[in-house]
Amino acid sequence: MHWKYIIVHHTGAEEKNTAQIRNYHRRLGWRDIGYHFVIERDGILVPGRVQCERGAHCAAGNMNGLALGVALIGNFELRAPNPEQLATLDSLLRRLMAEHRISLTGVLGHGEVNGANTACPGRYLDLRALREGLGNGS
Ligand SMILES: [Zn+2]
Repeated sequence: MHWKYIIVHHTGAEEKNTAQIRNYHRRLGWRDIGYHFVIERDGILVPGRVQCERGAHCAAGNMNGLALGVALIGNFELRAPNPEQLATLDSLLRRLMAEHRISLTGVLGHGEVNGANTACPGRYLDLRALREGLGNGS
């Protein structure tokens, strides 16, 4: 796969852990969890679907074939992501951007994708601040 984008999601629910999401996605008949990475509530990063497979996280814009999918567990329409989750997200995005030569403009929230009619990743995940942080070389 040649990844051009990274799409950030919330799961929209307060699942216990990645295994619960994986079981749910498999029950939908998918081969595996739809996201490539999951960041659990305590900031622990858990691999999802292998990176050599197209995702199942954003049908709009053909993004399942163009974008790595990263999901944070939680509903960020109702609460803010935990600081531990944001710290893990920041370092994961830096690593993936470097690995796949993806620029800041390639880091999108699910709802920023043309044709994706969703509040994901939620009003309390501040995408502008996220990208600003990534733009600072720290
Ligand atoms: Zn989403």
